[in-house]
Amino acid sequence: MPDLALPPLPQPPAEATIAALAAELEAVEPGLVLHRSIEERTRLSRDFHDYSPVLTPLLAGKIAQLAVVASTVEQVMAVAAACARHGVPLTLRGAGTGNYGQCVPLAGGVVLDLTGLNRVRRIDPSSGVLEAEAGCRLAELDAALAPHGRALRMAPSTWRSASLGGFIAGGSGGIGSVRWGFLRDPGNLLALEVVTVEPQPRLLTLEGGAAQPLNHAYGTNGILTAVTVATAPAVAWQQVVVDFPDWWAALEVARTLPGTALELDDLTLLQAPLAAGMPWTQGCPAPAAGQHRLLLLVAPDTLSLLPAWLAERGGTVIWQQPQGSSRGGTLRELTWNHTTLHWRARHKGWTYLQLALPVPERPLLEAVAERWGERVLWHLEGVRQGGSARLSALPVVQLGNAAELAELINFCRDHGAGSADPHVLSVEDGSSGVVDPNQVAAKTAHDPAGLLNPGKLRGWVGKA
Ligand SMILES: Cc1cc2nc3c(=O)[nH]c(=O)nc-3n(C[C@H](O)[C@H](O)[C@H](O)COP(=O)(O)OP(=O)(O)OC[C@H]3O[C@@H](n4cnc5c(N)ncnc54)[C@H](O)[C@@H]3O)c2cc1C
Repeated sequence: MPDLALPPLPQPPAEATIAALAAELEAVEPGLVLHRSIEERTRLSRDFHDYSPVLTPLLAGKIAQLAVVASTVEQVMAVAAACARHGVPLTLRGAGTGNYGQCVPLAGGVVLDLTGLNRVRRIDPSSGVLEAEAGCRLAELDAALAPHGRALRMAPSTWRSASLGGFIAGGSGGIGSVRWGFLRDPGNLLALEVVTVEPQPRLLTLEGGAAQPLNHAYGTNGILTAVTVATAPAVAWQQVVVDFPDWWAALEVARTLPGTALELDDLTLLQAPLAAGMPWTQGCPAPAAGQHRLLLLVAPDTLSLLPAWLAERGGTVIWQQPQGSSRGGTLRELTWNHTTLHWRARHKGWTYLQLALPVPERPLLEAVAERWGERVLWHLEGVRQGGSARLSALPVVQLGNAAELAELINFCRDHGAGSADPHVLSVEDGSSGVVDPNQVAAKTAHDPAGLLNPGKLRGWVGKA
């Protein structure tokens, strides 16, 4: 695990500079909401990095000196201009559901909340292409798409609260990734509207490949004010819960089901102790002792075949319900990092990893079980990676410090797994580990003074 210390950072600006900037903003954009109280600044400087025992102490006390809520592109441009003129760090924020401290300001300055930019601009009737402002919540976008027979291609399990801009800048995939892959896969993100951070900010439209350097860059290289994405035909997804007495039989089904013509929107496999610890959706029985559990979102036309297909492979359908008729929580909110959320609610001190499993998966899973036993519990997710059906994993782990986590991550890497480490701060360390020159070039072009989210783009640190 790299970087356990904070990177070199600019000094937080003097309070007099912040006061001058605030006064200027109130004069030029009276519609902006400015928060100066410690309570509001603290609230708007937090995300969900407390899942990490490594990031939690590192980010303690990192609070913006001013929090601003914008609701128009003009207001965003006014904030960008003022920060550029005063040399004040600017950290962007959607709903604040990120897991890696992505919207925690490391060098003080301003936090800009963009959830007020919440207008749908266009749903193309023939292609279904959606253009919406960056602060739109994903659930609201699905509601807007539904009358057109369309839906978002993919969403994080935080779909109810997460913003579109935050998903593009901070997320990677989720429900739907078993069909559509990840946000970075060409064809999912089509264009971005971007505000630059300069004394005279520019409003740019970046299309196709030009938008990619801002995809998953933690808001370090441009302010997204609108996003254009491809959408999918809407399907009345059915929630199906399947129990298996045998873990390896369940793994085999998770490996092979996405390769059939049975249409899926999500496939989640939980090892028995983890399945036993979930708050099951109303009406869905908890698993019997020792049962491993597969959660599926499937198209209605699979239902005549699926139960028999699963039974032949050792699985029993326990519960089934259309997603749209769920009361309270849906299966969606038991998948992806919601599994971690629910487990941690009852098991303090546990954390998690994010892995791309090797093929075949079994040797790694056996080797980890032999070394760590039930301190590592497997949670697998079906994904499409580079066009092929693969399994990723978000195991929950009872490992309390950086050295123990690094040992497990390195062990998994040595056994062929990829790791997107959720216990590091920079864009690069949380993904491939390699500096992407296109991300750095975009920062040079859109944020020449290096004010956006300082400390998070390793390829830039020290350049400003
Ligand atoms: C329980 C739980 C489950 C989760 N499941 C998933 C999952 O399935 N898949 C997944 O990918 N993630 C997941 N996440 C992480 C997170 O919820 C998602 O990535 C979500 O899409 C982030 O959106 P947000 O609006 O909360 O972004 P924020 O947390 O507010 O911001 C995320 C990053 O984007 C930047 N940013 C925000 N808005 C803009 C903008 N307009 N322009 C430029 N930069 C901006 C911020 O500076 C920050 O770096 C999960 C988190 C939790 C707590």
